[in-house]
Amino acid sequence: MICQILVLNSGSSSIKFSLFDEQEGALTDLYKGQISGLGSNACFTVSSSKNQKFTDLLKTADHLSALKYLFDWLESKLDSNKDLFVGHRVVHGGNHFFSPTVVTPGILEQLKKLEPLAPLHQAYNLAAIESLKQINKAIPQVACFDTAFHSSHEKPNNQFALPDEYYEQGIRRYGFHGLSYEYIATRLKQTEPELSSGKVIVAHLGNGSSLCALDQCRSIDSTMGFSALDGLMMGTRCGSIDAGVILFLLEEKNMSAQQLTDLLYKKSGLLGVSKISNDMSLLLKSPELTAKQAIDLYVHRIIREVGSLVALLKGLDGLVFTAGIGENANEIRKRICAELTWLGVEIDNRANDENSPVISTRNSSIKVCVIPTNEELMIAQHTFDKLNEKDSTPNNLAVGN
Ligand code: ADP
Repeated sequence: MICQILVLNSGSSSIKFSLFDEQEGALTDLYKGQISGLGSNACFTVSSSKNQKFTDLLKTADHLSALKYLFDWLESKLDSNKDLFVGHRVVHGGNHFFSPTVVTPGILEQLKKLEPLAPLHQAYNLAAIESLKQINKAIPQVACFDTAFHSSHEKPNNQFALPDEYYEQGIRRYGFHGLSYEYIATRLKQTEPELSSGKVIVAHLGNGSSLCALDQCRSIDSTMGFSALDGLMMGTRCGSIDAGVILFLLEEKNMSAQQLTDLLYKKSGLLGVSKISNDMSLLLKSPELTAKQAIDLYVHRIIREVGSLVALLKGLDGLVFTAGIGENANEIRKRICAELTWLGVEIDNRANDENSPVISTRNSSIKVCVIPTNEELMIAQHTFDKLNEKDSTPNNLAVGN
């Protein structure tokens, strides 16, 4: 079955997309873009693999009209001799979905029930699936979950010290950024085969930040837990916080659940501490003391969590940096690695300044790598594989009514 695959990553205010062409199982990217500013002044931007760029301003767009616009634009770009499949990033698979899943009406209903577990993501991920169903219900859609890669965790790593019935109700540590970690694990096997059979911590440092401990490329634990709020400090999210603080804010400061959600997800992290921005590149350039304090805390929290994952792994062979900050902010990598010299980490400053694939020295006991993530390719690959399984034919895969 030859095909083209559209990957959608639909959020509250933007829909990111990538179009891949398949040729004998190999995937090549053709276009990558986004419709941003949904709900206000939406803007469509796209660039082709040949570096042609196109921008357009849309009148106010919701998810449905944005996708209609995208499909109109795609019409002249798609190969009519090939089937079109769509793969979606879906943040939460709960404790039922551990692998990419073809979306049927029943599956969509089950995924909707998980919306409260990821209030800032899940509903918008699913909005794209529903909108596409309205535009063309014959297109097979596959949901790829950010939680799935972490389904290999042992129970103690997934458990809160609450009465066990809460675990059974799904109140457990799931872990996120799984598509990114799975992509990095795949790349490690290709480019660093020796390291891939060892103990590695991957630092996905973007607007959302987390760490994942890999043992032979299997996820052992991650800093994110029940929600994408846990673990490291992030762009606007606070990361791990004493549950007593939440109780205090609720009971003593009379904050509502909505105010707390806003505070913890949108007003904390780098933005909250610096009072300047959630954008690391701006903070690194800022002369303000609060910017420095925010960066210090960001690094401090990473070091703390690296320590706990090294203990769980019982050693460390490699450290991999990925995502916006991990791939580009050499200053942050340098500061993290400087705090890990006790582990035997030694970096080559020039290689680090150049964002080279390997930034550690030959003498370093830990190999330190920079690997750009590619969640879109991972989703496209999963979508292709899923729809090429023996019993998967387009006719029985469409989302339907
Ligand atoms: P998202 O989680 O939204 O996908 P990204 O992975 O794109 O986020 O990461 C965004 C973060 O990466 C921002 O804080 C941005 O400032 C940071 N970043 C990107 N490029 C650089 C750079 N050259 N130097 C420092 N930080 C950078």
